[in-house]
Amino acid sequence: MAVQIPRGTQDILPGEVEKWQLIEETAKKMCQLYQYHEIRTPIFEHTELFQRGVGDTTDIVQKEMYSFQDRGGRELTLRPEGTAAVVRSFAENKMFGNATQPVKLYYLGPMFRYERPQAGRYRQFVQFGVEALGSMDPAIDAEVISLAMGIYRQLGLKKLRLVINSLGDKESRVAHRNALINHFQPRIQEFCKDCQSRLEKNPLRILDCKKDHDHELMGSAPSILDYLNEESAQYFNKVKEYLKAMKIDFQVDSTLVRGLDYYNHTAFEIMSEAEGFGAITTLCGGGRYNGLVKEMGGPDTPGIGFAFSIERLISAMETEEVQFERENGIDAYIISLGEEAKDYSVTLLEDMRRAGFSVERDYMDKKLKAQFKAAERLGATHSIIIGEDELKNGIVTVKNMTTGEQQECSLQNFVEEYSKLS
Ligand code: ATP
Ligand code: MG
Repeated sequence: MAVQIPRGTQDILPGEVEKWQLIEETAKKMCQLYQYHEIRTPIFEHTELFQRGVGDTTDIVQKEMYSFQDRGGRELTLRPEGTAAVVRSFAENKMFGNATQPVKLYYLGPMFRYERPQAGRYRQFVQFGVEALGSMDPAIDAEVISLAMGIYRQLGLKKLRLVINSLGDKESRVAHRNALINHFQPRIQEFCKDCQSRLEKNPLRILDCKKDHDHELMGSAPSILDYLNEESAQYFNKVKEYLKAMKIDFQVDSTLVRGLDYYNHTAFEIMSEAEGFGAITTLCGGGRYNGLVKEMGGPDTPGIGFAFSIERLISAMETEEVQFERENGIDAYIISLGEEAKDYSVTLLEDMRRAGFSVERDYMDKKLKAQFKAAERLGATHSIIIGEDELKNGIVTVKNMTTGEQQECSLQNFVEEYSKLS
């Protein structure tokens, strides 16, 4: 039997890949406008990086990592997300010493999680994400949110909902944590095993549980917003103020907590509200993680970022029936008749491509009519016709495929004369 593609992965074929290219180009262009610079880190890292950076109590570390031992006995893991590695690199390359601060980075690449595959959930998926490291200005929180929304807007998405929350600083979180423990403890037996172990380790994550989502204690759980100290509340107010100044609509949801342990202050998600989008509506998640750089061995440096997957973005665009920009046709298609003309087309093709034209020819020994069909299918602006007679007379016929108009160019100066046509 033929070998098949692994579960939870997909091939992206020509025809589909243009959507990916459009999204990638748009995201990169927006990063240029916002002055975020690309960083590329390895596909695999030491397992410990994610244990420390993502957090031991998260689903990612507990259940979803592709970990293996290499031949030298090292414990390695295919990266399940991007932030931990970017922060590692920031510390390792001493970017905290860069002249320009904050350090604004973006990444784009495959991530790996051992999940139950379903719509919008893959085992290999591509994330685009940004991290701004080094600033504790709430305007950078607003900027990061604006960038994510801007990319989506640029791609034509309209049915979006931005939800924000604050998880506060350490002091606020400790106060909230104690309130959560008091709230859930008496009835923790009614919750799943994961939540029972979360109670002591990280009760905030109980609010993020997918299994116990509908338990009545969830709705009445103490809100972090009631436990924010003065400074944290002020910070959150500033972020909201800036978003309003940027005319970006948002809702505050005090139950929004991110799955990763290192978040504090601002947390946000962008969901699709497109009808029929499916059960998983979160397109993008992000937030502030002021403790992470220190945890990774760097100096105490604040940071904020987001990540979204291209897979979910494409399904949101498809659900909203956004028009993907059509790929443009090619400049020319060379139609040759007879052995000599075919031989000559090799030179012509090469000359034209060197001059920067997109050109194609027939390699399947097709008849004249079939070659014209191929030219049409590829959306060629011109077809270039070379036959025995043309060769003898040193001329080539160029046909404009839209108007049907024909012109003759000399073989000798073909590229130059053709350039003047198009
Ligand atoms: P979810 O609650 O959907 O599992 P998450 O909290 O695990 O999301 P993050 O780790 O914050 O997600 O990742 C950010 C974004 O990456 C998500 O909002 C989503 O767009 C995308 N994403 C996460 N896991 C997958 C996956 N398995 N397949 C495709 N996209 C994914
Ligand atoms: Mg997940």
